[in-house]
Amino acid sequence: MANIAFIGLGNMGGPMAGNLAKAGHAVTGFDLVAANNEAAKARNVCIAENARAAVKDADLVITMLPAGKHVLAVYEDIMAVTKNGALLIDSSTIDVDSARAAHMLADKAGLQSLDAPVSGGVGGAEAATLTFMCGGTDDAFARGKPIIEAMGKKIVHCGGAGAGQAAKICNNMILGISMIAVGEAFVLGEKLGLTHQALFDVASTASGQCWSLTTYCPVPGPVPNSPANRDYQPGFAAALMLKDLLLSQEASKSSGATTPLGQHAADLYQAFAAAGNDGKDFSGIVNFLRAGLK
Ligand code: NAD
Repeated sequence: MANIAFIGLGNMGGPMAGNLAKAGHAVTGFDLVAANNEAAKARNVCIAENARAAVKDADLVITMLPAGKHVLAVYEDIMAVTKNGALLIDSSTIDVDSARAAHMLADKAGLQSLDAPVSGGVGGAEAATLTFMCGGTDDAFARGKPIIEAMGKKIVHCGGAGAGQAAKICNNMILGISMIAVGEAFVLGEKLGLTHQALFDVASTASGQCWSLTTYCPVPGPVPNSPANRDYQPGFAAALMLKDLLLSQEASKSSGATTPLGQHAADLYQAFAAAGNDGKDFSGIVNFLRAGLK
């Protein structure tokens, strides 16, 4: 069993750290928010005074923080006191450039590292069924995988430094675009007198088939457990979809890729979120499209 430091005990980090403790690891955590530290204590996570104290004896350091600037600030803070031979795993969803910069900081200190963002949301974090998309060397992945297994069900090695973040934002760019496509098709179908069920019955078994339609159908009815059937309670909040689409567009710019539909999807989710829907499930964009863009 390993000594693990866990920095960032929020909605995701709290239950993830708890699952590591449940698996028998000695977990020491730290969050800037006192209430999150208290909640983690109830999950058998020891709480340190600060990030440096949390990592001091750790064989493995996991971070689950809001954005790239937080990850880089914590890495800069802890690097000097992190044990020789420790492995650093960042599971936050952050921009690819910051993820690579974090790997470089670790490398400079002679430490192995992985970027390992997740999908599966708070439910997946609680149930230890997250999907982890990992970037780093074969060796770092081989070391991290048995630990990550206590928090997730599917663990994929996507390539070298930053490849986990790249896979996550590429996947979520597909998702954002395809949800808008499915929403537009339902809105057009309504205008043409098609029932939701008729369009679903055809498209779900034809070439329009996709996850946004068949698993997460944005109109109530055809897929009974999709968020549309519970007034678009998330699920996956529009604010998080917007975050990932903006990261995808940052990556497009810095890498020179052309992603016009990704940009358009980011603009539409920005408008949807700004209209007071940031806490709604992202599939609620169908209602925004139906209302007509002003
Ligand atoms: P959150 O805001 O609940 O948790 C982040 C925590 O980091 C906060 O508690 C904050 O106090 C803490 N923090 C910030 N700076 C710190 C520092 N210097 N030291 C210690 N703690 C610090 O966010 P979350 O929902 O847990 O998400 C975490 C990451 O996971 C984000 O990058 C998010 O995009 C990603 N993610 C979230 C979900 C989801 O459904 N919530 C799903 C997949 C990925």
